[in-house]
Amino acid sequence: MSTSEKFTRNFCPCPCGKGKILEHIDSPDNPWSKTHFSYELECPDCSKEWVLEETTLFNRLARSEMSKCWSEQRKIEGRLGSLGKRAIEDILAERNLESFKKEHRMLTEARVCREGPIRYARARKSGVVASEMCVPIGNIVWIIENLQPSQMKDEIQALQQEREISERKEELARGQLNKMSLSDLRPTG
Ligand SMILES: [Zn+2]
Repeated sequence: MSTSEKFTRNFCPCPCGKGKILEHIDSPDNPWSKTHFSYELECPDCSKEWVLEETTLFNRLARSEMSKCWSEQRKIEGRLGSLGKRAIEDILAERNLESFKKEHRMLTEARVCREGPIRYARARKSGVVASEMCVPIGNIVWIIENLQPSQMKDEIQALQQEREISERKEELARGQLNKMSLSDLRPTG
């Protein structure tokens, strides 16, 4: 059974100076495990304004706006990914290209497929559908441009718009992000 020695010490003052940053140290009592350090902001005022991640403080407002955008984008991209695969199958059915080689060329030029030509053809011959080897979110714009009008196309377009709005919001929040490294808060000397 392995045990470890845990203790906590003051690391540095918090940004406002009224509270502190604590350092938690967890050192296993065997020579092959690494000591683990973690940090905690202990100040009611600063906790309202700052969030501590690893050893960096971020202003809470911009940081939470950014992570809100990320989870929004993950959701949108998940939906776009599955609709995009169906859209790729529709585009291929409509084009009716006469060889797997031509299919592969079109999909790689569109940057929705990264599979090599030999593996692609082999998989297709064995019955794998094309979209299984595609990552549609790599180029949703191409999919929209090449898809015949349909309810699915409308849905993809709407999602792509939402995605772009979310990306702009994320950029805006990034512009308002302040960060402070814990090492900058440590008194020198
Ligand atoms: Zn403080």
